[in-house]
Amino acid sequence: MKIRIDKSACVGNARCWAISDELFPLDEDGYIDIEEFEVPAGKEDLARRGARACPERVITVIEN
Ligand code: SF4
Repeated sequence: MKIRIDKSACVGNARCWAISDELFPLDEDGYIDIEEFEVPAGKEDLARRGARACPERVITVIEN
């Protein structure tokens, strides 16, 4: 499973980070600091919850 994030559309409300600061790190201005990553084994549910938590819908889950 992969996560892809449209960083340019992030508004910096940290909802994803509140679900998992490990999967969804923020930069020093509070915006998402990662664009695409392979979800580590066992973190799939957290990744999906983080994606659902983003009110801007900029986090896409790519199931594979
Ligand atoms: S929840 Fe969405 S808008 Fe908010 S910081 Fe995370 S990626 Fe950005």
